[in-house]
Amino acid sequence: MYTTVRDSPIHGRGVFAIQAIPRGTRIFEYTGELITREEEIQRELENDKTGVTYIYQLNDHESIDGAYGGNDSRFVNHSCDPNVEGVIEDGHIYYVALRDIKRDEELFIDYAFDKDSKREPCHCGSTNCRGVMNEM
Ligand SMILES: [Zn+2]
Repeated sequence: MYTTVRDSPIHGRGVFAIQAIPRGTRIFEYTGELITREEEIQRELENDKTGVTYIYQLNDHESIDGAYGGNDSRFVNHSCDPNVEGVIEDGHIYYVALRDIKRDEELFIDYAFDKDSKREPCHCGSTNCRGVMNEM
């Protein structure tokens, strides 16, 4: 157990290291319900109303919705300068430390939303902030 969830200065709740996490550590799996692309499109219409989504695209036709059966990994916030990356292996998504993470640091992943999907403004504050959570 490397992490805990608490209020984030960036957005809502966030995930924080409760101990030092060495680079390359597999921190947790992104769990949730396996859904089709069609189901994802339906759910995102609903999610747009609340502005909250926990859907992570697994491949071209399937996604994992952390809103159902998800664990703490769904609370990892976005940054344009992330310290964690999602690694997809055999139909599973693992969150892996991109660098050494100190105790009490917040974990961030680059959401890299599709450049053609709705543009989500970013306020991550990193020096290389793209201004949006989408890919450029
Ligand atoms: Zn940013």
